[in-house]
Amino acid sequence: MNPPEVSETSKTHEVLNQPPPLTGYNLYLSDPTLVEAIQREGAAWADPQLRALGHLLGTEEVQRWGFDANEHEPVLHTHDRFGNRRDEVEFHPAWHNLMRVSIENRMHSLPWVEPRKGAHVARTALLLLAAQNELGHTCPVSMTFSAVAALRAEPELAAEWEPRILSAKYDPRFRPAAEKLGALVGMGMTEKQGGSDVRANTTRAERIGNTRDYVITGHKWFCSAPMCDAFLILAQAPRGLSCFFLPRWTPAGERNAFHIQRLKRKMGNRSNASSEVEFAGAWAWLVGEEGRGVQTIIEMVNCTRLDCAAASAGLMRQAVVQAVHHARHRKAFGKLLIEQPLMQDVLADLIVESEAATLLMLRVASAFDTRSSSEQERSFARIATAIAKFWLCKRATSHVGEALECLGGNGYVEESIMPRLYREAPLYSIWEGSGNVICLDVLRTLAKEPGSLDALIQEIRLGAGVDSRLNAFASEVESSLGKHAQQIVQGGGSDSERDARRLVEKTALALQASLLLRHSSSAIADAFCASRIGRDGGHTFGTLPVGLDFQRILDRVSSNL
Ligand SMILES: Cc1cc2nc3c(=O)[nH]c(=O)nc-3n(C[C@H](O)[C@H](O)[C@H](O)COP(=O)(O)OP(=O)(O)OC[C@H]3O[C@@H](n4cnc5c(N)ncnc54)[C@H](O)[C@@H]3O)c2cc1C
Repeated sequence: MNPPEVSETSKTHEVLNQPPPLTGYNLYLSDPTLVEAIQREGAAWADPQLRALGHLLGTEEVQRWGFDANEHEPVLHTHDRFGNRRDEVEFHPAWHNLMRVSIENRMHSLPWVEPRKGAHVARTALLLLAAQNELGHTCPVSMTFSAVAALRAEPELAAEWEPRILSAKYDPRFRPAAEKLGALVGMGMTEKQGGSDVRANTTRAERIGNTRDYVITGHKWFCSAPMCDAFLILAQAPRGLSCFFLPRWTPAGERNAFHIQRLKRKMGNRSNASSEVEFAGAWAWLVGEEGRGVQTIIEMVNCTRLDCAAASAGLMRQAVVQAVHHARHRKAFGKLLIEQPLMQDVLADLIVESEAATLLMLRVASAFDTRSSSEQERSFARIATAIAKFWLCKRATSHVGEALECLGGNGYVEESIMPRLYREAPLYSIWEGSGNVICLDVLRTLAKEPGSLDALIQEIRLGAGVDSRLNAFASEVESSLGKHAQQIVQGGGSDSERDARRLVEKTALALQASLLLRHSSSAIADAFCASRIGRDGGHTFGTLPVGLDFQRILDRVSSNL
């Protein structure tokens, strides 16, 4: 018997009840929370650029780049065929396309080249959009942006490198930076024996004569985006841990002794290369004072922490958009999923979380804009960056996991974006200070910067008075913050550390409630207050209490897609 013809087998059934692909939509215009915040936070001038990027990222072609860059992982070439070291990583063209778009949109430079009102908000909003399409490539974009903050500690170096770093041209060629149209900067702190505790770094720096030039010998256990043109690294100099600027090519135009050992095989973040490197007597330039490496690099770290929060908010936004889109088109048991009461609760809960994340992240970004002219804003930026980084990164993993389930089995399949979002989510909680480290940093800031406590309380109180649940919760949070600040000043103690996550979590919730009450719809603010601070919620998403205005919450996403 002949096998059935292909045309016959394709006639076995009609494909029904599957949603259309979510493509051809504007990621910016479909997000009223973001559009409103851009106006409110003084970044309306960036609206045309955000519209254009939002449109581009929603096209089928650019969505494909995200998939291609992750399916075709970067390849390391340690040596050429003659045995000479190459230390080059080759990327799929889709990676370069994504990089080009982000650099041309000045996601790595906007507030530095255009330090006007709302510039940090605008840049963070651009990143929030890019994160929804492909996050891996934003790693070098974010590090380059953040490096400028630290590099300025070294005016001579900044004068030479800033024009290249701030250039809106993406130039992936492996050449000395002076020959290139634009340059990228990475960061190397983590070593095998310790990442959080960088004081344990063993990489050595020896000064060359009476100059600011050093020879670096040692390694880094994680060094992402090794094709960057230079790296800010930490190494032990005679006066202690110091920060250095280590380019891939020496000033004499030779390849620096920056040897890429191998690339990490990672759970997610696959488009990006994360390497292990050896510095075999590499040339580097001291940045800031010898022995004050952490203080010098901390400004870079604060900027990347803001970006971790933005990345996590972006992941949550994309996850909930995908979930709502699916539920609008998929039927089960005679109704669209979005009409099923229990699914409405799950989706509404995810929408509330995503909106709270976007608002908190943008409020912190706005403090980056205003901190140079206001002491309170400076204090707020310092402590709220850590709080937002901890909380949004933590929430992203469970949020994306729940959103994935809204798509049923389709959500577990690679052709949907969901597995990629899910694998990406835990990363932002690990790097730039893992959860515990961030919470301990919040305690330290409370103790060292008394203004930070006031700044938090002022911000939370702006929303209190409107809602009795926030009034009660804010008093509780204020007294915990005050108690901890006092305990730490008096020498701390293990109880204070043990309580740090509870404290940071509650403070984040109070901040989010305050922001939602001021800037969101009453339906969303009410749902948040009832479930997150009024204690009428559960431990999984989809446990909002009955009696809320579910339709209005769903419309916030659904009616804009
Ligand atoms: C994909 C990827 C890319 C990366 N890229 C880079 C890069 O480009 N440059 C770079 O420098 N690093 C990079 N990292 C490293 C990352 O920043 C570190 O992994 C992170 O800082 C944690 O350090 P660690 O792995 O040494 O863990 P550890 O420091 O050993 O921490 C392990 C756990 O212990 C907790 N912990 C630590 N101290 C305390 C304490 N006092 N009390 C309670 N708990 C504590 C931490 O929160 C964490 O949960 C990358 C990591 C990944 C996964």
